[in-house]
Amino acid sequence: MSVDQPGRIKALDTNVVNKIAAGEIIIAPANALKEILENSIDAQSTTIEVSVKEGGLKQLQITDNGHGINKDDLAILCERFTTSKLSTFKDLSTIQTYGFRGEALASISHISHLSVVTKTKDSPVAYKCVYASGKLAPTKKGANPQAVAGKDGTQIVVEDLFYNVPSRLRSIRSPSDEYYKILDVVQKYSIHCLQAGFMVKKTGESNYALMIRQNLSLKERIRTIYGSGIANELLEFNETEAGERYGLVAFSVCATSPNFSSSKKTPPIFFINNRLVSCDPLRKSLQQVYAAFLPKGANHPFIYLSLSISPENVDVNVHPTKREVRFLHEDEIIELVTERVQEELMKTDNSRVFHTQS
Ligand code: ADP
Ligand code: MG
Repeated sequence: MSVDQPGRIKALDTNVVNKIAAGEIIIAPANALKEILENSIDAQSTTIEVSVKEGGLKQLQITDNGHGINKDDLAILCERFTTSKLSTFKDLSTIQTYGFRGEALASISHISHLSVVTKTKDSPVAYKCVYASGKLAPTKKGANPQAVAGKDGTQIVVEDLFYNVPSRLRSIRSPSDEYYKILDVVQKYSIHCLQAGFMVKKTGESNYALMIRQNLSLKERIRTIYGSGIANELLEFNETEAGERYGLVAFSVCATSPNFSSSKKTPPIFFINNRLVSCDPLRKSLQQVYAAFLPKGANHPFIYLSLSISPENVDVNVHPTKREVRFLHEDEIIELVTERVQEELMKTDNSRVFHTQS
């Protein structure tokens, strides 16, 4: 019986499987950028520079000064499910790194032209590798990996993203939108990852669209990115013993006081266990709290909120892009956090009334 007979089940070719898997993780250039950026942060980088050509579709280049990749690992770097971060399923419950599935570079290598230059401290030289579909690509001449001059750290270059996924390429409307999505991701990470400096520019331009030096404080980072109107009205507070019984270890907030109102929306920035996530129930609950303080139509505060929840209570593996997380005691934790925000807003609101009355 022929395998092509309708209705018969057959195994997909591994390249097809990998391309499908890649499409789930890498929906737009910003998804590729986020994965690569997180790898740089996982590698303990203190400076990360991003350059973007045509919204990342033509080229995305990320250069870090992290610990680099060992030469002996380069052959399997872009294979699926190869990682230095997770070894047992149990580790997943206490994972501290962004990565753990070993899927990102593999996926990207299936839907782009990917090359890597990397150097560890112990190595006298850097190595450059070119990948195709998960493997070191055969080159006509020259070695792969090839010894080259280079600094400690890693540079990842992604070119022609989605070149072999025409439907995806067609669905992307404007390189300019994609560029702003990329910028947005780096901006948010630069608010959260105070241990590193971040730079973004368009390839070929000399001006940086984002330039956050490593030693810049949280407030100064917010000022650089979102402007003084927001930065001058920030309340900063944190809690380390808030809700142990709910697995809430700590939270910290940097948000505008009732003195700041704007008709322009700035969606809240949430990091849960260091992951940039969206959390609609939390967003709505905070919006309600602010509504009591801000004029209608201008209820658009700036909010950066970082939650640390016991890792065993958090499931980070619910979504391919890791965009959503689930955690236990969600309602109780949200209530604790919003109550504290409300208290802080009331404090400044009261002192403001006092101030105008005196
Ligand atoms: P994951 O992050 O889930 O492990 P990736 O495909 O993103 O999977 O990366 C695979 C491996 O490549 C990582 O586990 C890490 O060891 C290495 N790696 C990737 N990027 C970097 C980098 N910028 N610096 C150092 N090592 C890196
Ligand atoms: Mg990764």
